[in-house]
Amino acid sequence: MTQADAYLPITASDEELRTALETAHVPSLMNALVHLSGDIGHIRGDIKPIAALFQDPQGGIPPADQARARAIALDVLRAYRDGGSRLPARPSDEAIEEMTDYLIGEGVPRDYKDFLHAELGMEEQDPYAHASFDGIPMAARAAFHVVIIGAGMSGILAAIRLDQEHIPYTIIEKNAEVGGTWWQNQYPGCRVDNQNHIYSYSFEPYDWPFWYSNRQVLFDYFNHCADKYGIRAKIRFHTTVDSARFDEASGHWTVAVRSQGGAPEEIEANVVISAVGQLNRPRWPSITGRESFEGVAFHSGEWRHDIDLTGKRIGVVGTGASAFQFVPEIAPLASEVVIFQRTPPWMAPQPIYRQPIPDGKHWLLTHVPFYRQWYRFSLFWRSSEGMLKSVTVDPEWVEAGSVSAANERMRATLTSYITRTLQDAPEVLEHAIPDYPPGGKRMVVDDGNWLRALQRDNVRIEVDPIASITPTGISTVSGHTEAFDVIIYATGFQASAFLMPMAVYGLGGVELHDQWAGTARAYKGISIPGYPNLFTLYGPNTNIVVNGSTIFFAECEMRYVMGCLRLLLAEGKISMDVRREAHDAYNERIDRGNALMAWGTSGVTSWYKNVDGHVTQNWPFTLREFWTQTREPDRGDYEFVERRATAR
Ligand code: NAP
Repeated sequence: MTQADAYLPITASDEELRTALETAHVPSLMNALVHLSGDIGHIRGDIKPIAALFQDPQGGIPPADQARARAIALDVLRAYRDGGSRLPARPSDEAIEEMTDYLIGEGVPRDYKDFLHAELGMEEQDPYAHASFDGIPMAARAAFHVVIIGAGMSGILAAIRLDQEHIPYTIIEKNAEVGGTWWQNQYPGCRVDNQNHIYSYSFEPYDWPFWYSNRQVLFDYFNHCADKYGIRAKIRFHTTVDSARFDEASGHWTVAVRSQGGAPEEIEANVVISAVGQLNRPRWPSITGRESFEGVAFHSGEWRHDIDLTGKRIGVVGTGASAFQFVPEIAPLASEVVIFQRTPPWMAPQPIYRQPIPDGKHWLLTHVPFYRQWYRFSLFWRSSEGMLKSVTVDPEWVEAGSVSAANERMRATLTSYITRTLQDAPEVLEHAIPDYPPGGKRMVVDDGNWLRALQRDNVRIEVDPIASITPTGISTVSGHTEAFDVIIYATGFQASAFLMPMAVYGLGGVELHDQWAGTARAYKGISIPGYPNLFTLYGPNTNIVVNGSTIFFAECEMRYVMGCLRLLLAEGKISMDVRREAHDAYNERIDRGNALMAWGTSGVTSWYKNVDGHVTQNWPFTLREFWTQTREPDRGDYEFVERRATAR
């Protein structure tokens, strides 16, 4: 099946076409016209993006030219429909390159060509497909067994890829359901902050009802994937992994698991894939007296649906992405909400954040061949490579609150958004402008909901730092105490405690967390020296602040892991262990890269850093680079152990 086959034939009337085209993203539409007509001339005329997509999603194309583009598109769509929805030959590689330049409005660096070409998925339905397993006997595959830990976004992906190659696996999932963070986080208002046309598996487009779906839609999507790809039966729900131990002689892992109410048990595996995620184990702040509170207290990641918040006095600790989403939902119910803010968030204005996708746009995405790919590509660029430059440190830059001239321009744009929105609320504005550089922490996506909530009569920001929690409420350092019925901790997750609380014993019985000594590291985020045949998805330094989607990273990682499995099976090895030199050199480069990004600067604290201030979470380079680095494993980076060999 090709990407073009994924579109429905066009049977709409002229009037319906006209209506749908009103909602089009014009730069993506113009490129789609080249596919539909075979005529590159459509993008060689005077209707051209003239501004960066980040500044204006329509690329600065004036409204009159947008109208002309829609009129041309109407003719092309009619001809395509009347010709039986048949596409001409695919545009040449040179034409695709020209279309890429056209969409972005600036020359695309040559080394992006392969990446963009694959990401666009012009020929195949599956742009992140791994190297073929052809030639590997089915018996060898059937004798192999993989344990996947976690049935969230990464674990489901791992299972789909293993199934495609007939490799047996078992998924161990601590929760009652699939979905990982989208199962865990059930607070009101929970919603993704990447557009779904990039926050989705490349091979599994979906009928997204929203641009940025809410938690329920995402949960449905991952359930849909689990069902469609038949993996549910291979998941052991309500089961936790206590430990995993590698045996050097056999090259096998022994995974010790405990199911709810069941006896401990051990599962043998040739390979363990950790897909445990980062945002599911709540981080409770260590504030004096926290346990003494006599009202109801809970964490945003463990929402208490049994607690009716109507008429309650609520204290909220934290102003990260979670609080940002639930405060506007609970404020209308509560009698009063006091938000204890240590650091205000930077907000990326996005008017469509909570809006449904209009019917016309939905029609274009499902009927106009390659429109969706170009639209996805425009998002990729806008949200990733396009933004990266603005958060890169200029070592010569000395102004506080920004890290470069581009970052300062971003600060000015974002500050003016907050200032304009709060022009009638000076008491809120006073505490709403962050002093750290934009991109220092994850920016929250905003359609005005948060700042509206802060202006309600029953909502107040408290910036006096918390001194202690008392039996009745929260005391601040200036000696003021507020009484609450409920305290909600929106204080984030134990993200840098990778693979906790499992114990993982590798070569020589060394426990992984002892080896890490507080700073989690891995080669390409995936392989750890001394832990053969253990692969981590969403591992150290694979997270993103401004650029891209975690699903993109997971797809790259899993393609790489499949390459590793292929090496093991094709070459009859029992294990592969990444060489320490390759790992260390890689991580030195990552550290240098992170030091040059806004989130790596010394004045910024965030969950991207561990307690020592080391950036353990983030990838500091382009998406293209991660894509290239993880295309396939370089066997020279690993030490292999032959089948039937004994311990080294
Ligand atoms: P977070 O970003 O780590 O925010 C935690 C908040 O709690 C911060 O405001 C922090 O202040 C504050 N805090 C922590 N300890 C405190 C203490 N002792 N006293 C006072 N304040 C304290 O956590 P989160 O909001 O749950 O978000 C975590 C990540 O999850 C996000 O960055 C994002 O990647 C993801 N997420 C995404 C979405 C989405 O897609 N829309 C939604 C929710 C979460 P400081 O900043 O001063 O440390």
